[in-house]
Amino acid sequence: ENLCNMIAAGEVVERPASVIKELVENSLDAGAGDILVEVEGGGKKLMRVSDDGEGMSRDDAFLCLERHATSKIRAPQDLAALRTLGFRGEALPAIASVSRMTLRTCGNDEGEGVEIYLEGGTVRKSQDLGLPRGTLIEVRSLFFNTPARRKFLRRDETEIGHIADVVTKQALAHPRVRFRLLHNGRELFEVRRDSLLEERIGAFLGRPLLRQLVPVAEGEPGDLSLRGFICPPEVTRSSTGAIYTFINGRYVRDRVVQHAVLEGYRNLLMKGRYPVVVLFLELDPAQVDVNVHPTKHEVRFRDQGRVHDFIAEGLRRVLKPSPG
Ligand code: ADP
Ligand code: MG
Repeated sequence: ENLCNMIAAGEVVERPASVIKELVENSLDAGAGDILVEVEGGGKKLMRVSDDGEGMSRDDAFLCLERHATSKIRAPQDLAALRTLGFRGEALPAIASVSRMTLRTCGNDEGEGVEIYLEGGTVRKSQDLGLPRGTLIEVRSLFFNTPARRKFLRRDETEIGHIADVVTKQALAHPRVRFRLLHNGRELFEVRRDSLLEERIGAFLGRPLLRQLVPVAEGEPGDLSLRGFICPPEVTRSSTGAIYTFINGRYVRDRVVQHAVLEGYRNLLMKGRYPVVVLFLELDPAQVDVNVHPTKHEVRFRDQGRVHDFIAEGLRRVLKPSPG
């Protein structure tokens, strides 16, 4: 059982940023409006994600630490209808199996919460505890029991860079939610609840970009739609460019989408000029398979050509120099 968890950890938990990704996804799934991410020593020493989501009952708190106990997939059609971010019920057991984890959660308004402490996936202590509704998960000494993997972790600066990237993508995708990221007690960023997407783009990709953003609003919600902001390449000369694409609310770095974006910029991309793109593609979940890879970055479209051309043509239209 624990061996399975450690093997799963090899897939799910590559580095501290992958832990943060899973924990924050869970907070989002729990309907959190406020997510605090605290990191020490590039995440190698400590990672703590606290949220004000729905929390868990005492039983569910123990259950979620067991592999697949909570998988939301019970029938094949569940896979097609997937809307929440997590669905395999193996992240928490996997992370717990390679760290020292504290889980604190409360799923009621009476303040009756529970705290569970695990080492290498084994429950060492638990107690009932008065808590506000929500969940806190603390992960210390990642890979303490798999020294070979611990050796592969990079410098603090590198690891916190990956973490900031993960939180940026999540914050761009969830404008209703307040996000804070602290490293060694210092605030790296904070975005307010209900802040505009433009504001978030400015906070993460740089204030000077704000003046250059062009809105994109193509297609019909419910069928196939594209929303967000892009920058004409001539104004992004000095930057290295950045392509952030989301499918049904999930960050995706997909070959087809990437290609379509560049195709949309065709003729405009001269040497040293790059696209800056923050785009949200929405389509019927049955039209896209997100279960292609465990890290969930790649997807498979039912009608790849249609999605590709829709994005490429949409961007071309928006980028077309206005006559006169
Ligand atoms: P998955 O997200 O794939 O279901 P996880 O191992 O990430 O699997 O989480 C297991 C379960 O634990 C979730 O389905 C959820 O019910 C519960 N859970 C985890 N994190 C939280 C949280 N922050 N708030 C509320 N429930 C949570
Ligand atoms: Mg999850």
